[in-house]
Amino acid sequence: MILGKLMDRLKDKEERMVEIRRHLHENPELSFQETETAKYIAEFYEEKDVEVETGVGGNGVKVTIDTGTPGKTLALRADFDALPILEETDLPFASKNEGVMHACGHDAHTAYMLILAETLIELKDELKGTIVIIHQHAEELPPGGAQRMIADGILDGVDNVLGAHVMSNMETGKVLYREKESMTGRGFFKLTIKGSGGHGSSPHLANDPIVAGAHFVSEVQTIVSRRLNPFEAGVVTIGSFDGKGVFNVIKDQVVLEGDVRAMGDDTKKTIEKEIKRISSGIEATFGVTNVLEYKDDYPTLYNDPELTRQVAKAIKDANLSNVTSVERCEPQPPSEDFAYYTKELPSSFIYIGAAPEGQIYPHHHPKFDINEDSLLIAAQSIGSAAIDYLMNDSKE
Ligand code: MN
Repeated sequence: MILGKLMDRLKDKEERMVEIRRHLHENPELSFQETETAKYIAEFYEEKDVEVETGVGGNGVKVTIDTGTPGKTLALRADFDALPILEETDLPFASKNEGVMHACGHDAHTAYMLILAETLIELKDELKGTIVIIHQHAEELPPGGAQRMIADGILDGVDNVLGAHVMSNMETGKVLYREKESMTGRGFFKLTIKGSGGHGSSPHLANDPIVAGAHFVSEVQTIVSRRLNPFEAGVVTIGSFDGKGVFNVIKDQVVLEGDVRAMGDDTKKTIEKEIKRISSGIEATFGVTNVLEYKDDYPTLYNDPELTRQVAKAIKDANLSNVTSVERCEPQPPSEDFAYYTKELPSSFIYIGAAPEGQIYPHHHPKFDINEDSLLIAAQSIGSAAIDYLMNDSKE
């Protein structure tokens, strides 16, 4: 049976998956600068019987596996960029590129996907339909690589998209899924409040932007508490309030920066509108001049319910020896530019438990690490979902 054959071959290649992951981990590159990684990926496919297109939407790589038998087209996406973080692990394969680190597991995504793709290529005569591998650059940095790859036609002819993320906060052996809204959409802003400076003893001759900024911070808290329906989820965080000065001097301007997350694009729009309104209100109240730069970026990630259940069922039915359970999980607070695919086509993004032994560090932490058993689990999970999807298709 084709499923068993794919699973066995992936198992046999587990060591190579780990080697690739370690190579990528050692050689991380920042978003939009991943030229060497893109080259490494393209070279991996050299001499393989498959169509490879580089430079898709930037550093993206598209691999098309045409089985020669009619059927649906399924895209599988793995990202490959790293973060501007100085690695603090003691791993023998720690980053050689100082200040850049694979601290989100995208090295693992690319490693499992390369081996899965290779194996699907080997077995393509026994498969139906077409598989498009999306090796995506720049997930970590808005505007992100997904949007650009989509604009460059990566989804042309594709019916559905699947993706997975290894998660250091989820038990290794577990595969998790969530239908509908499952990761937050995101926006961020920078507000410059211009007042006029002066002597601390004479506030009436100046116009203090720190006081105006303090009101802005407080009023923004009312968006979530007073403007959102209690069943909507949203967050606004002011992460920076740059008003440093001297104790007896009134500053002439302050700069605030904040982060917006929402579990729904309408909620995100409401928050944006309210931030703009509060900023205008602060201008009127304090007579300051505000410059608000608001940037709306990754949308809410929406998992197609039917496809997601089908994927979960396929993984469960595959009875993978290293998978202890396939469970529904809570929505996840971070944002993901996989969300752009979900806006274009019914898609599904699942989580692969990857908690290492011992201390667990969150994603984007300088000591972040994963359990490498998650690589095979990811390859077999996405592999079994792909087989189920392609082989049980009646479209000819
Ligand atoms: Mn990530």
